[in-house]
Amino acid sequence: MKKNLDRIEELVSERRVKFHVFEPSQREIWTVVGKGKEYWLDPDGEYCSCPGYYFGKLAGKNLCYHLESVLLAKKENKFEKIVFSDDEYSVFLAGLISDL
Ligand SMILES: [Zn+2]
Repeated sequence: MKKNLDRIEELVSERRVKFHVFEPSQREIWTVVGKGKEYWLDPDGEYCSCPGYYFGKLAGKNLCYHLESVLLAKKENKFEKIVFSDDEYSVFLAGLISDL
């Protein structure tokens, strides 16, 4: 079992943190690509769609390592920025949600 800090650095250095921007509305979606799954995050609302976040929250913890990865990626400016058009927003969301 890897330590959280290693996992966070791995996700960031492998650029698995993705920042999706929709034009022209500038809507933003953050995701982190884990092992075979992509998780949807809201770093401002401190939300992540992974089970670790859900169960961590129940146990009184706030952040899972995906959220910490996004925070680190933002700080170090090490994320993949992908620009979409607003037309693609609903399709993109539907894809994410069906993956949960
Ligand atoms: Zn998570």
